[in-house]
Amino acid sequence: MPEGDTIYRAARTLHAALSGQRIERFESVLAQLTQVDANAPIAGRLVERVEARGKHLLMWLSPEPSPVHGGGSLVLRTHMRMHGSWHIYRPAERWQRPRHEMRIVIETAPYVAVAFAVPVAEFIDARTIERAGPVAELGPDVLSDTFDAAAAVARLQTRGDLEIAEALLDQRAIAGIGNVFKSEILFAARVNPFTPVQALDAAALTRIVAIAARQMRANVSDAATGGRTTTNRLDPSARLWVYSRRGLPCRRCGTPIQRAKHGADMRSTYWCERCQPRGT
Ligand SMILES: [Zn+2]
Repeated sequence: MPEGDTIYRAARTLHAALSGQRIERFESVLAQLTQVDANAPIAGRLVERVEARGKHLLMWLSPEPSPVHGGGSLVLRTHMRMHGSWHIYRPAERWQRPRHEMRIVIETAPYVAVAFAVPVAEFIDARTIERAGPVAELGPDVLSDTFDAAAAVARLQTRGDLEIAEALLDQRAIAGIGNVFKSEILFAARVNPFTPVQALDAAALTRIVAIAARQMRANVSDAATGGRTTTNRLDPSARLWVYSRRGLPCRRCGTPIQRAKHGADMRSTYWCERCQPRGT
């Protein structure tokens, strides 16, 4: 599943390709989008900017140029969930995913942006997106330039009954972390993933949040050109500390890495019993 770093990179690429461009053609197979297009046409608007908020990708569109309709600014919000992705193509370039997976096409003169298999897509009035709905409810975004670590710690502290591994996935507490980074962050912090948040003091939570910001930022920096890494190693077999390494030796102590599926969605958590014993 794409995590905050993947969405951040996708937004940066889309922004570089599309910002300031006029939309020449809009196409979608999603009724909730085509209905808006019928009432307040998308073609003719400018793409003002594209940004990531947590795991949401937001494309800000200018008001309609035509005074006939007078539609105001809109935001196209998409969420990739498990299999969705945005691609950028030159006009007439062959797509890398099949046509039947197409959900949205935004065509400008230099580039065509195609959303494949996105399960969540909606147009939102730009005036209301910050006031209500999933974007407004997000906790501090770990990849934002204005990330407020203290606020993230405070929000985590309100989820005292949750295991820390679950709390780090709660996008209303801290936004952007997904299942891979969750395990990697807790290994680096030497905290057992099943520790209730209320058993961790403010210093421990502050350290976890700092590691989260450091690991995720490292994966969106200009220097991060290869695949995702938390170990700062580029060798594909050595990029992660624990994620997807069940039974393999811990990179610190050699103990076999454990895996458990838990939480509401039965997501996999990986940890080292020796480096992250229960009660830490
Ligand atoms: Zn270990």
